[in-house]
This record gives sequence, C-alpha cells and structure tokens, in this order.
Amino acid sequence: MTVLITGGAGFIGSHCCVTFLEAGHDIVVLDNLSNANSVSLNRVSAITGRKVAFEAADIRDQARLEAVLDQYGCSAVVHFAGLKAVGESTKDPLAYYDNNVVGTQRLLSAMAKCGVRQMIFSSSATVYGEPKYLPLTEDHPTSAVNPYGRTKLMIEDMLRDIAASDPSWRFGILRYFNPVGAHDSGLIGENPLGIPNNLMPFITQVADGRRAELSVFGKDYETRDGTGIRDYIHVTDLVEGHLRAHEVLASGAAPSNCFAVNLGTGTGYSVLEMVRAFERASNKEIRYSFAPRRDGDVAECFAHTAMAEKLLNWKAERDLDAMCRDTWNWVCKNPRGYETTAA
Ligand code: NAD
Ligand code: UDP
Repeated sequence: MTVLITGGAGFIGSHCCVTFLEAGHDIVVLDNLSNANSVSLNRVSAITGRKVAFEAADIRDQARLEAVLDQYGCSAVVHFAGLKAVGESTKDPLAYYDNNVVGTQRLLSAMAKCGVRQMIFSSSATVYGEPKYLPLTEDHPTSAVNPYGRTKLMIEDMLRDIAASDPSWRFGILRYFNPVGAHDSGLIGENPLGIPNNLMPFITQVADGRRAELSVFGKDYETRDGTGIRDYIHVTDLVEGHLRAHEVLASGAAPSNCFAVNLGTGTGYSVLEMVRAFERASNKEIRYSFAPRRDGDVAECFAHTAMAEKLLNWKAERDLDAMCRDTWNWVCKNPRGYETTAA
C-alpha cells in the first residue's frame, strides 16, 4: 500500500517523505515543482537510504492523477500541494482558487474514481481569523481574512461535505500553526524563492548577510514586549503529527470520519524573542528596526493542543532552540538553498 504525497518536494512535504519512509511506508511524490526543486527528493533518499518515486505533474490534471493512483496502488493521500503566499493571494485570487480549490476538487474526484478514500489535508490556523479567545481550540469559530485563508476554509468544507455524504471516506484536517526549522541532518529545509514573507526565513537571511536588517511589523500590540506572538512548531514535530494522523485514520480509530486538529506547541513567542533565540543559535547579530503593523496581522495566536494529544497521541517535542539551531545548520550547509549545492 502506497501513500501519495502531493507537494512532496516542498518544505513540509519533503520532511513528511522522510518520516513516512522511515516508518516503513511506501510513497510516491507528485509535484509540479512550481515552488520546489526536485533536489529535495534526492536528499530525502540520502537521509533514508530509500529511492523516492516521483511524478512531475499538476494536481489539476485529473487523468494523470488517476493513472498515478492506479499505477502505484495508492491507499491514501497526504495533500500538501498548493499555493501559500497570503499577499500574492490578494493580488491574484483566481490563481489561488484554481490551484488550491479546483486542484483539490480534481484530486478528490480522481480518488473517488480510483477507490482511494483517505486524505490528510494541510490546513492552517489562519482559518480561525481574529482570535476571540486564546489558546485556539478546534471549535473556535472560523473565518477567512484573505483569499488564501478562504481556499483553506473552502477545502475544509468540501471535505466535511464529502465525509457526511459517505462514511467510507476518511479525512484528517491538520491546522498548522507556524512551521519552522529543518531536518537535523541539514540536508533538507525551507528554500523560499525571492524575498521571504515569513519571519524565520527573513531572520536567517539577515543572519547570513543577504539582507541588512529585519523589519519588525508593529511594536505596540498588547503583548509582553509589544511585538506579535505566534506558535512556532518544528517541522519534524509537524510531520510526525501527520504520521500519527495517517495511522489513526488507517486503523479506523478516529472518532469520526472527518476530524480537524491543531498542530502547534501551545506556546507563543514574540518577534523579539525569536530574534534573540536566533542570535543565540547562530552567534550572529540580527539587526532590526520597527516598521508599521502588517495588514491582516493579529497580535497573538497560539494553539490549544489537548485534542491532538488525545486523538493522535502526539505532542510537539522540539523547543525553540532546536528550531533555530536546525534552521541555521540547514542555511549554513546550503547557503543558496538547493540551487547551487550538489545533489
Ligand atoms: P511549499 O510551497 O514548500 O510546498 C508546496 C508544494 O506544492 C511545492 O513543492 C509546490 O511545487 C507544489 N505545488 C503547488 N501547486 C501545485 C499543483 N497545482 N500541483 C502539484 N504541485 C503543486 O509549501 P509548504 O510550506 O511545504 O506548505 C505545504 C502545505 O502546507 C501548503 O498547502 C500550505 O498552504 C500549507 N501550510 C503551510 C504553512 C507554512 O507556514 N509553511 C502553514 C500552514 C499551512
Ligand atoms: N514578522 C515581522 N517581520 C517580517 C515577517 C514577519 O515582524 O519580516 C512578524 C509578523 O508580523 C508576525 C510574525 O512575525 O507577528 C510571524 O509572521 P509570519 O509571516 O512568519 O507568520 P504568520 O503571520 O502567518 O503567522
């Protein structure tokens, strides 16, 4: 039985490949390489000692998906493929509805046709919108503040509708908080193209001299030091949560055939705390200056983690120092990401 991993050449997907292979699963990766480099999969092979089956294809190509599901005898899907830049989604919403929503609809149609009825879906804490209380529990009301978030909510709704229509479907919706870090080998990690939108990749580029300083968005939030607080989670912990979700779904042990669960640590850190932690890990000064708040940002966001512990028997284990140390190790070993390093 093989697991299809869509978007498996990307940041989180490549780490998931390692975890699934090391747990003894057979996998096939399908990725259109729109935001990835297939060298990541060579690195997955180097870490695990196992060859990775790879199909360069788009999730919107339903015929190709059906051929892949049949050819490899897939029994389940872990679905990472999609576009993820909030700012870009407000400029080109159609691309986001097409890639994320239409792509997922085609993937589900292909699965229905091939009799594959289990999927884990990459959702996001962004579906909670402005927090009404903290920590965020899974039954917190959902809302979307940008097209990216709306695509995640639409897909969640699509999965809930399909699950309600037929009990043989099994869906695990995983709502990620802020994934950071890298595999501890330093062989795979986050490889953003262009100017990073997210805090951690930006900090790394200040540490290694590619950017002069970090702009800290907002210094007057009602938080302990005035800067925004987020729940950062090590990518290795995150993908271990996927493995547990896959096992729970496959064993039929889930309390319902469609569950949504938070993957976070339950602890929030401010932007300035992240800067200090990264300085400790890298032994570099991170220069910064304050800039106005970024549109759409909330002051504080962190997860309630009890449901993940109960349902998945999973809890994040790696601390902030490990997140920063592993990120820095990856960046030092791959100063230009996958592009200029040997496979
Ligand atoms: P990523 O961009 O590194 O990985 C996504 C992968 O999907 C890339 O390899 C890309 O080439 C591929 N892809 C995109 N569109 C495709 C298509 N139409 N067909 C086939 N392949 C396609 O991003 P990531 O950080 O690894 O995120 C993975 C998933 O997790 C995404 O769905 C993202 O929305 C979600 N997520 C990420 C974060 C985060 O902060 N990284 C937070 C919450 C949710
Ligand atoms: N942030 C910042 N400067 C940057 C990027 C991010 O101050 O260059 C802040 C941002 O305002 C938020 C936190 O860092 O408080 C995390 O932002 P990120 O974009 O990484 O994640 P998200 O906003 O999706 O939680």
